[in-house]
Amino acid sequence: MTRVLVIGGGLAGCVAAAAAARDGAEVTLAWRAPGATALYSGGMEIAGELARLPEGHPLCRLGMDAMGIGSELDDALSALVSWLQRAGLELVGNARRAGLYADLLGRPRPANLVPASVAPGELSNLRGRRVAVVGIEGVSEYDAESTAEAMRELGGVDAFAHAAEVADLPPGASLTDLYGRAAPALRGLRAEAVAFPPGLAGLPDRGFELLAVAPGPHGHRLQQALEAMVAAAGVRSLQTAVHGLEGEAGRLRAALAGDQELVADSFVLATGRFIGGGLVKRRRTHEPLLGLGVFWEGEPAAVSRRLPRLEYLEPGPAFQAGLMTDDRLRPLAADGRVAFENLRAAGAVLGGWDEGGEMGFGVPLLTGWLAGRWSAM
Ligand SMILES: Cc1cc2nc3c(=O)[nH]c(=O)nc-3n(C[C@H](O)[C@H](O)[C@H](O)COP(=O)(O)OP(=O)(O)OC[C@H]3O[C@@H](n4cnc5c(N)ncnc54)[C@H](O)[C@@H]3O)c2cc1C
Repeated sequence: MTRVLVIGGGLAGCVAAAAAARDGAEVTLAWRAPGATALYSGGMEIAGELARLPEGHPLCRLGMDAMGIGSELDDALSALVSWLQRAGLELVGNARRAGLYADLLGRPRPANLVPASVAPGELSNLRGRRVAVVGIEGVSEYDAESTAEAMRELGGVDAFAHAAEVADLPPGASLTDLYGRAAPALRGLRAEAVAFPPGLAGLPDRGFELLAVAPGPHGHRLQQALEAMVAAAGVRSLQTAVHGLEGEAGRLRAALAGDQELVADSFVLATGRFIGGGLVKRRRTHEPLLGLGVFWEGEPAAVSRRLPRLEYLEPGPAFQAGLMTDDRLRPLAADGRVAFENLRAAGAVLGGWDEGGEMGFGVPLLTGWLAGRWSAM
């Protein structure tokens, strides 16, 4: 049985671990803490213009055409949806079509996949209906009047604010205090749909949750469901920081975590970008565990003369720097050669794409799915 070690407990690492386990590998997942995955708004962006991916995009480097990428994404997405459903998180949507959903401030945001509790709030379905936006007495982090106004102006929805009370909130309550509490009763409220801040339990039939604008309940629930998903897949999950990897002759043998040596046949690096800790930026961006090549626009970031000048003006370009892989997701060393034949990389640690763009979860999902399955072979 192939032993696979996945490093990183975000979407990419958890999907890689579950996919490798599904294909018969003995899988260990080492993860340090929740990463960017736990910060998502509640709306997953999966697929953009697959036929027009830029040259250095990680999915372009897989050597598949848009049809091939689309069909692998469909497979990965349907596996994720069914795994998460079994783990208690129901997601609704598909990779082919994005809807628009309002966040807590009323701004419309595109998403392919949302929790079932968010789905009824798709803005085109709300047009022509009276929508109440619930403001909770004592919680001042958002203003239901302003949210309703933004939904009217930006989303074209007939929205209005409605004040409600949640029992036994502490003085100076914040949004986090709402988590898991019962949604307030809405007796006599004349609205066809009701928008709630995220986090409350037991929404009424016509109720839905808004997307979060800061770390919030959607990310927390997703992270918990991912942990339950890998456990159900039979993955050994260790909450520990990997501080080094050992190997020779172009093959890795073991990862070092605390005083443990985690020996494996295949490795997946899914350590995320700056929030996850997979990339570190001091003067230049580098990959801290193995010193793998960090590339920007096809050349090593360390030798680029243009990158530091652009970054001097604004930080945007640094967010496109990251690992570059061959067509089997094996990361390259700075000299452009495959660094280790039994190491694959997945998710936000890869460069050449915008984590905040239209494939925010699409790249981690597909690369995690493929890296896990290829590692199990
Ligand atoms: C603030 C923010 C909000 C976002 N919101 C959205 C959104 O609403 N919708 C959307 O589609 N996309 C969104 N994105 C993009 C999306 O969240 C990321 O692309 C995705 O979560 C990346 O997943 P990942 O698994 O690659 O990395 P991460 O989720 O960052 O996971 C990295 C993991 O690696 C672990 N790790 C790192 N180093 C080590 C080590 N040495 N040892 C052990 N473990 C280690 C970390 O602890 C973490 O568990 C957002 C991104 C950010 C930054």
